[in-house]
Amino acid sequence: MQNPKTLISEDEIRKRVDELAAQISLDYADKGELVLVGVLKGSFIFLADLSRRLSIPRHIEFIAVSSYRYGSTRSGAVRLVMDMRRSIEAKNVLIVEDIVDTGHTLDYLIKMLKSRNPASIRTCTLLHKEHSAEVDVQIDYCGFSIGDEWVVGYGLDYDEKDRTLPYIGVIEPDD
Ligand code: 5GP
Repeated sequence: MQNPKTLISEDEIRKRVDELAAQISLDYADKGELVLVGVLKGSFIFLADLSRRLSIPRHIEFIAVSSYRYGSTRSGAVRLVMDMRRSIEAKNVLIVEDIVDTGHTLDYLIKMLKSRNPASIRTCTLLHKEHSAEVDVQIDYCGFSIGDEWVVGYGLDYDEKDRTLPYIGVIEPDD
């Protein structure tokens, strides 16, 4: 099987993550500690890079949801499989996602976390398949808009494969 074809290079990712971190640092300057909530597993590399480039006080939490059974087969319902350890009440919260596709996962997360009474809640996603949207979901910071194709790398997988590729790639069908 050949390597996934490059869609977004390491360099392009680095530059965009720098820009997002600068914007977020500006927007939250003098607002106290920001709680970054990474959505496992896909966001762990993006969150690691983004959080290290912020110039504001921040705290990292992780949450895990399951929205796909395996591979690229959609299962429909979103389910919380791991919660964070700290209360977010009265905190500024930024949900950090790897990719927004139909929007159901992010919609579920925003509603769930809003019910915990944070001071504010915003969302940041590295990738957005904007033409696949099924629900109108709030995206405050977006790295790249992409088409409706299955992407891997930089934290994203296909059946647990290709997660640690340094770039975002597309798997091409075998010839
Ligand atoms: P949504 O609920 O927006 O349809 O889906 C969000 C989740 O679907 C993401 O967090 C991710 O786990 C998965 N997903 C959607 N598209 C892709 C893709 O192209 N590649 C990978 N690896 N995961 C995807």
